[in-house]
Amino acid sequence: MKLHIKLLVSTLILFSTYANAQSKSEVEILQKQLISKMTGNENWSDSEVLNERSSSADRKTAAEILTHALAEILLDPERHNYMHPNVNALVDLLFAPYKGTNVYAVIPATTLSDEFVVIGAHYDSEPGAPGADDNATGVALVYALAYQISLMEDRSRNFMIVFFDQEESDEIGSKAFARKLKKEGVKVHSVHIADMVGWDADGDFAIEISPASSVMAPAYEKSADDLGVPIKKTNVMSSDHKSFYDAGYPSILVTEEFVGGDFNPNYHSPNDTYQIVNFEYLSSCTELMYGVMSKLASESN
Ligand SMILES: [Zn+2]
Repeated sequence: MKLHIKLLVSTLILFSTYANAQSKSEVEILQKQLISKMTGNENWSDSEVLNERSSSADRKTAAEILTHALAEILLDPERHNYMHPNVNALVDLLFAPYKGTNVYAVIPATTLSDEFVVIGAHYDSEPGAPGADDNATGVALVYALAYQISLMEDRSRNFMIVFFDQEESDEIGSKAFARKLKKEGVKVHSVHIADMVGWDADGDFAIEISPASSVMAPAYEKSADDLGVPIKKTNVMSSDHKSFYDAGYPSILVTEEFVGGDFNPNYHSPNDTYQIVNFEYLSSCTELMYGVMSKLASESN
Protein backbone atom coordinates (compact mmCIF):
# COMPACT_ATOMS: atom_id res chain seq x y z
CA MET A 1 0.00 0.00 0.00
CA LYS A 2 2.72 2.47 0.98
CA LEU A 3 4.85 1.50 -2.00
CA HIS A 4 1.85 1.91 -4.27
CA ILE A 5 1.26 5.45 -3.01
CA LYS A 6 4.94 6.39 -3.44
CA LEU A 7 4.82 5.16 -7.00
CA LEU A 8 1.79 7.31 -7.73
CA VAL A 9 3.43 10.34 -6.16
CA SER A 10 6.60 9.89 -8.16
CA THR A 11 4.69 9.75 -11.40
CA LEU A 12 2.41 12.61 -10.34
CA ILE A 13 -0.75 10.91 -11.43
CA LEU A 14 -3.66 12.81 -10.00
CA PHE A 15 -5.82 9.93 -8.89
CA SER A 16 -7.69 10.09 -5.62
CA THR A 17 -5.08 7.88 -3.91
CA TYR A 18 -2.58 10.62 -4.64
CA ALA A 19 -4.77 13.09 -2.79
CA ASN A 20 -4.86 10.62 0.11
CA ALA A 21 -1.08 10.36 0.09
CA GLN A 22 -0.83 14.12 0.36
CA SER A 23 -3.26 14.23 3.25
CA LYS A 24 -1.42 11.34 4.93
CA SER A 25 1.78 13.30 5.53
CA GLU A 26 -0.33 16.31 6.41
CA VAL A 27 -2.20 14.15 8.93
CA GLU A 28 1.07 12.98 10.51
CA ILE A 29 2.11 16.59 11.06
CA LEU A 30 -1.28 17.40 12.63
CA GLN A 31 -0.91 14.40 14.95
CA LYS A 32 2.60 15.38 16.08
CA GLN A 33 1.54 18.96 16.75
CA LEU A 34 -1.45 17.87 18.81
CA ILE A 35 0.52 15.38 20.93
CA SER A 36 3.28 17.94 21.42
CA LYS A 37 0.84 20.57 22.73
CA MET A 38 -1.09 18.09 24.89
CA THR A 39 2.01 16.79 26.66
CA GLY A 40 3.96 19.96 27.41
CA ASN A 41 6.55 19.27 24.73
CA GLU A 42 5.72 22.70 23.33
CA ASN A 43 3.59 25.63 24.45
CA TRP A 44 -0.09 25.28 23.61
CA SER A 45 -0.51 29.06 23.53
CA ASP A 46 2.00 31.92 23.34
CA SER A 47 3.21 31.40 26.87
CA GLU A 48 1.35 28.47 28.42
CA VAL A 49 2.43 24.85 28.79
CA LEU A 50 0.17 21.91 29.64
CA ASN A 51 2.24 19.28 31.45
CA GLU A 52 -0.52 16.89 32.47
CA ARG A 53 -4.30 16.56 32.12
CA SER A 54 -5.59 15.47 35.50
CA SER A 55 -6.75 18.46 37.58
CA SER A 56 -9.99 20.20 36.70
CA ALA A 57 -8.08 23.27 35.44
CA ASP A 58 -5.69 21.21 33.29
CA ARG A 59 -8.52 19.17 31.82
CA LYS A 60 -10.30 22.41 30.93
CA THR A 61 -7.18 23.54 29.07
CA ALA A 62 -7.00 20.21 27.25
CA ALA A 63 -10.68 20.54 26.25
CA GLU A 64 -9.89 23.98 24.89
CA ILE A 65 -6.94 22.70 22.84
CA LEU A 66 -9.17 19.97 21.36
CA THR A 67 -12.00 22.38 20.61
CA HIS A 68 -9.54 24.54 18.66
CA ALA A 69 -8.07 21.51 16.93
CA LEU A 70 -11.50 20.37 15.67
CA ALA A 71 -12.32 23.88 14.44
CA GLU A 72 -8.96 23.96 12.65
CA ILE A 73 -10.02 21.03 10.46
CA LEU A 74 -13.33 22.81 9.79
CA LEU A 75 -15.52 20.71 12.06
CA ASP A 76 -18.08 22.21 14.39
CA PRO A 77 -16.95 21.32 17.94
CA GLU A 78 -19.51 20.90 20.71
CA ARG A 79 -19.07 20.45 24.44
CA HIS A 80 -20.93 17.93 26.54
CA ASN A 81 -20.68 19.16 30.12
CA TYR A 82 -21.75 16.48 32.55
CA MET A 83 -22.13 15.95 36.24
CA HIS A 84 -21.62 12.47 37.61
CA PRO A 85 -23.07 11.76 41.05
CA ASN A 86 -21.10 9.96 43.75
CA VAL A 87 -22.27 6.55 44.96
CA ASN A 88 -25.27 7.99 46.78
CA ALA A 89 -27.06 11.27 47.45
CA LEU A 90 -25.73 11.54 50.99
CA VAL A 91 -22.14 11.38 49.76
CA ASP A 92 -23.06 14.08 47.23
CA LEU A 93 -23.87 16.37 50.15
CA LEU A 94 -20.35 15.89 51.50
CA PHE A 95 -18.34 15.74 48.27
CA ALA A 96 -19.09 17.62 45.08
CA PRO A 97 -20.20 15.32 42.24
CA TYR A 98 -17.69 14.78 39.44
CA LYS A 99 -17.85 17.38 36.71
CA GLY A 100 -16.25 17.19 33.32
CA THR A 101 -16.46 17.97 29.62
CA ASN A 102 -16.48 15.68 26.61
CA VAL A 103 -15.62 17.44 23.36
CA TYR A 104 -17.28 16.12 20.21
CA ALA A 105 -18.20 16.87 16.60
CA VAL A 106 -20.51 15.28 14.06
CA ILE A 107 -19.49 14.57 10.47
CA PRO A 108 -22.80 14.05 8.66
CA ALA A 109 -23.55 11.35 6.11
CA THR A 110 -23.67 12.53 2.49
CA THR A 111 -26.74 10.35 1.86
CA LEU A 112 -29.81 9.88 4.04
CA SER A 113 -28.84 7.86 7.13
CA ASP A 114 -29.83 7.88 10.78
CA GLU A 115 -26.94 5.64 11.85
CA PHE A 116 -23.94 7.00 13.73
CA VAL A 117 -20.47 5.51 13.96
CA VAL A 118 -18.90 6.80 17.17
CA ILE A 119 -15.10 7.12 17.34
CA GLY A 120 -13.49 8.24 20.58
CA ALA A 121 -10.45 8.54 22.81
CA HIS A 122 -9.93 9.87 26.33
CA TYR A 123 -7.89 13.03 26.75
CA ASP A 124 -7.28 13.07 30.51
CA SER A 125 -4.12 11.67 32.10
CA GLU A 126 -3.04 10.27 35.45
CA PRO A 127 -1.75 12.88 37.94
CA GLY A 128 1.97 13.49 37.36
CA ALA A 129 1.97 11.83 33.95
CA PRO A 130 2.25 13.81 30.69
CA GLY A 131 0.14 11.02 29.18
CA ALA A 132 1.70 10.95 25.73
CA ASP A 133 1.06 7.32 24.93
CA ASP A 134 -1.87 7.22 27.42
CA ASN A 135 -3.68 8.78 25.71
CA ALA A 136 -2.56 11.71 23.55
CA THR A 137 -1.80 9.06 20.91
CA GLY A 138 -5.41 7.82 20.90
CA VAL A 139 -6.66 11.39 20.69
CA ALA A 140 -4.30 12.07 17.78
CA LEU A 141 -5.45 8.91 16.00
CA VAL A 142 -9.12 9.89 16.35
CA TYR A 143 -8.30 13.45 15.30
CA ALA A 144 -6.62 12.17 12.13
CA LEU A 145 -9.63 9.98 11.36
CA ALA A 146 -11.92 12.98 11.86
CA TYR A 147 -9.91 14.91 9.30
CA GLN A 148 -9.74 12.07 6.79
CA ILE A 149 -13.43 11.16 7.17
CA SER A 150 -14.43 14.80 6.69
CA LEU A 151 -12.55 14.75 3.36
CA MET A 152 -14.39 11.66 2.06
CA GLU A 153 -16.60 12.48 -0.90
CA ASP A 154 -19.24 9.96 0.11
CA ARG A 155 -20.32 8.81 3.56
CA SER A 156 -23.22 6.38 3.90
CA ARG A 157 -23.30 6.91 7.68
CA ASN A 158 -22.91 9.78 10.14
CA PHE A 159 -19.73 9.85 12.20
CA MET A 160 -19.43 11.21 15.72
CA ILE A 161 -15.94 12.11 16.94
CA VAL A 162 -15.59 12.27 20.73
CA PHE A 163 -12.76 13.17 23.10
CA PHE A 164 -13.66 11.84 26.54
CA ASP A 165 -12.85 13.39 29.88
CA GLN A 166 -12.07 11.39 33.04
CA GLU A 167 -11.34 7.91 31.72
CA GLU A 168 -8.71 7.60 34.44
CA SER A 169 -11.50 8.10 37.02
CA ASP A 170 -13.54 4.98 36.33
CA GLU A 171 -14.47 6.05 32.76
CA ILE A 172 -16.81 8.72 34.08
CA GLY A 173 -16.73 10.86 30.91
CA SER A 174 -17.63 8.07 28.50
CA LYS A 175 -20.29 6.71 30.87
CA ALA A 176 -21.92 10.16 30.83
CA PHE A 177 -21.68 10.25 27.03
CA ALA A 178 -23.25 6.79 26.69
CA ARG A 179 -26.13 8.01 28.90
CA LYS A 180 -26.52 11.08 26.67
CA LEU A 181 -26.73 8.93 23.50
CA LYS A 182 -29.30 6.64 25.17
CA LYS A 183 -31.38 9.56 26.38
CA GLU A 184 -31.39 11.20 22.95
CA GLY A 185 -32.19 7.92 21.23
CA VAL A 186 -29.21 8.18 18.89
CA LYS A 187 -29.05 5.17 16.57
CA VAL A 188 -25.50 3.96 17.19
CA HIS A 189 -24.07 1.55 14.61
CA SER A 190 -20.87 0.92 16.59
CA VAL A 191 -18.40 2.55 18.96
CA HIS A 192 -14.64 2.53 18.29
CA ILE A 193 -12.16 3.52 21.00
CA ALA A 194 -8.42 4.15 20.64
CA ASP A 195 -6.41 4.02 23.87
CA MET A 196 -2.58 3.84 23.88
CA VAL A 197 -1.49 3.47 20.27
CA GLY A 198 2.08 4.82 20.36
CA TRP A 199 4.30 2.05 21.79
CA ASP A 200 5.87 -0.74 19.77
CA ALA A 201 9.25 -1.66 21.29
CA ASP A 202 9.39 -5.03 19.52
CA GLY A 203 8.73 -3.39 16.16
CA ASP A 204 6.09 -5.86 14.97
CA PHE A 205 3.33 -3.23 14.42
CA ALA A 206 0.87 -5.54 16.21
CA ILE A 207 -2.40 -4.21 17.58
CA GLU A 208 -4.86 -5.64 20.05
CA ILE A 209 -8.65 -5.40 19.89
CA SER A 210 -11.12 -6.01 22.71
CA PRO A 211 -13.44 -7.67 23.47
CA ALA A 212 -12.69 -10.72 21.36
CA SER A 213 -16.43 -11.20 20.85
CA SER A 214 -17.00 -7.73 19.32
CA VAL A 215 -19.08 -7.81 16.14
CA MET A 216 -16.59 -5.29 14.72
CA ALA A 217 -13.60 -7.67 15.11
CA PRO A 218 -13.80 -9.15 11.56
CA ALA A 219 -13.62 -5.67 9.98
CA TYR A 220 -10.46 -4.94 11.99
CA GLU A 221 -8.94 -8.30 11.08
CA LYS A 222 -9.58 -7.56 7.40
CA SER A 223 -7.99 -4.11 7.65
CA ALA A 224 -4.97 -5.52 9.53
CA ASP A 225 -4.64 -8.17 6.86
CA ASP A 226 -4.76 -5.54 4.08
CA LEU A 227 -2.01 -3.61 5.88
CA GLY A 228 0.02 -6.71 6.71
CA VAL A 229 0.17 -6.17 10.47
CA PRO A 230 -0.52 -8.71 13.24
CA ILE A 231 -3.77 -8.36 15.17
CA LYS A 232 -4.66 -10.07 18.44
CA LYS A 233 -8.05 -10.43 20.08
CA THR A 234 -7.99 -9.83 23.83
CA ASN A 235 -10.50 -9.10 26.58
CA VAL A 236 -9.18 -5.87 28.10
CA MET A 237 -12.19 -3.98 29.45
CA SER A 238 -10.42 -1.15 31.30
CA SER A 239 -11.15 1.65 28.83
CA ASP A 240 -14.02 3.73 27.47
CA HIS A 241 -15.43 0.95 25.25
CA LYS A 242 -16.73 -0.65 28.46
CA SER A 243 -19.11 2.29 29.04
CA PHE A 244 -20.76 1.63 25.66
CA TYR A 245 -20.54 -2.15 25.94
CA ASP A 246 -22.40 -1.91 29.27
CA ALA A 247 -24.98 0.36 27.63
CA GLY A 248 -25.63 -2.33 25.01
CA TYR A 249 -23.85 -0.73 22.04
CA PRO A 250 -21.53 -2.74 19.77
CA SER A 251 -18.11 -1.44 20.80
CA ILE A 252 -14.43 -2.18 20.35
CA LEU A 253 -11.11 -1.04 21.82
CA VAL A 254 -7.97 -0.65 19.71
CA THR A 255 -4.70 -0.60 21.61
CA GLU A 256 -0.99 -1.38 21.36
CA GLU A 257 0.15 -4.71 22.84
CA PHE A 258 -1.26 -4.01 26.27
CA VAL A 259 -1.33 -7.64 27.38
CA GLY A 260 0.58 -9.29 24.52
CA GLY A 261 4.14 -8.95 25.84
CA ASP A 262 5.15 -5.49 24.64
CA PHE A 263 3.84 -3.42 27.54
CA ASN A 264 4.86 0.24 27.75
CA PRO A 265 7.04 0.55 30.92
CA ASN A 266 6.34 4.32 31.00
CA TYR A 267 2.63 3.68 31.62
CA HIS A 268 1.08 6.14 34.10
CA SER A 269 4.51 7.62 34.93
CA PRO A 270 6.30 10.96 34.43
CA ASN A 271 8.23 9.21 31.63
CA ASP A 272 5.19 8.90 29.36
CA THR A 273 6.46 11.83 27.28
CA TYR A 274 6.30 13.01 23.66
CA GLN A 275 9.81 11.59 23.14
CA ILE A 276 8.77 7.99 23.76
CA VAL A 277 5.96 7.99 21.16
CA ASN A 278 6.53 5.74 18.16
CA PHE A 279 4.98 7.87 15.42
CA GLU A 280 5.51 5.27 12.72
CA TYR A 281 3.44 2.84 14.77
CA LEU A 282 0.77 5.49 15.45
CA SER A 283 0.59 6.08 11.72
CA SER A 284 0.10 2.37 11.05
CA CYS A 285 -2.70 2.16 13.66
CA THR A 286 -4.33 5.22 12.09
CA GLU A 287 -4.23 3.63 8.65
CA LEU A 288 -5.68 0.40 10.03
CA MET A 289 -8.62 2.17 11.65
CA TYR A 290 -9.11 4.31 8.56
CA GLY A 291 -9.55 1.08 6.59
CA VAL A 292 -12.42 0.10 8.89
CA MET A 293 -14.01 3.57 8.67
CA SER A 294 -13.80 3.54 4.86
CA LYS A 295 -15.77 0.30 4.87
CA LEU A 296 -18.36 1.71 7.28
CA ALA A 297 -18.68 4.86 5.18
CA SER A 298 -19.23 2.96 1.96
CA GLU A 299 -21.58 0.08 2.81
CA SER A 300 -25.33 0.52 2.60
CA ASN A 301 -27.39 0.72 5.79
ZN1 LIG B 1 -5.89 5.30 28.66
